[in-house]
Amino acid sequence: MIDLRSDTLTLPTPAMRRAMAEAEVGDDVFGEDPTVRALEEETAALLGREAALYVPSGHMANQLGLYVSVRSGEEVWAHEHHHLIGDEQGAVAVLARALPRLYSGEPFPSQPLLESWIAGAGDVHRADPALVWWENTFSGRVVPLTEQRRVTGFAHAHGLRAHLDGARLWNAAIGLGVSPAEVAEGFDTVSVCFSKGLGAPVGSALVGDADTVRRARRGRKMLGAGMRQAGIVAAGALHALRHHRERLAEDHHRAARLADLLEGLPGVSVVARTNMVLITTPEGRAGRYLEALATEGVRALGGGDRVRLVLRQEVTDSDVEEAAKAIVRAVSSL
Ligand SMILES: *Cc1c(COP(=O)(O)O)cnc(C)c1O
Repeated sequence: MIDLRSDTLTLPTPAMRRAMAEAEVGDDVFGEDPTVRALEEETAALLGREAALYVPSGHMANQLGLYVSVRSGEEVWAHEHHHLIGDEQGAVAVLARALPRLYSGEPFPSQPLLESWIAGAGDVHRADPALVWWENTFSGRVVPLTEQRRVTGFAHAHGLRAHLDGARLWNAAIGLGVSPAEVAEGFDTVSVCFSKGLGAPVGSALVGDADTVRRARRGRKMLGAGMRQAGIVAAGALHALRHHRERLAEDHHRAARLADLLEGLPGVSVVARTNMVLITTPEGRAGRYLEALATEGVRALGGGDRVRLVLRQEVTDSDVEEAAKAIVRAVSSL
């Protein structure tokens, strides 16, 4: 089986395991774990921010992003396919008790839409807009920085804050050919994952200014994620941050190669986006394609008319060639 379900399957390397075994640790709730501190400082510096907070998951980093910027009953503006909306069990309603206002289609809201959403703000009938949500990469797609700047600029001009779900910000930076700090620019808070393509076993971070991160640290403790000698896992994340960012480009090249090999397959369209290959099947047929792929030895995820193949560290050039042959056989069988 060639497993292309997700980059969350990336495993710690031997060097990463050694760094974890040898990590200097302390009680992080007392602020005394030197490895967690180093991870937080390096993450903040890389993203051009004052401070960062190490948390167990991207989900928690996002929820803390809401916690520091949104009060109960306020509006969060997001895309209907953002992870926050579709993949966090409705925590935006349960924990933040916020009202999502959603757009669809393109991965950014148009200017007329933003104008119309702000026009009624302040009316006694309306919920108060508090936060604009953003994702980059978005389903593997790099969202242009010009759109980001337009939307964060609009948010700040109207007193809203802006959060970037940057679970795959590292891929976005490579895809755009800019630094991670440039991708993070303009946002009040940014969440990043160490456990996807970077390959750390556990963890994400929320970054922002010092006061915002201080409040997020309190929120993390309230949610029960004050961690003690967390340096053991943070060491994996720190190793990933230092040594695995550049290699993400290899995943992008392999995704492009895989898409090339699949070009012209009958009945589907294929596109490579950063470390992913997306196959669009006839309406509602993704399930059938996933079964056929599995029969030929390729695991993937999908639903509706979308099959997603994700490249990661363990998937080699020859795996890509093999997978392409298997996918051609599978699609031809349908
Ligand atoms: C994976 C992912 C998350 C959440 O990460 P977990 O660590 O699995 O909770 C958040 N946002 C996006 C866009 C993601 O892809």
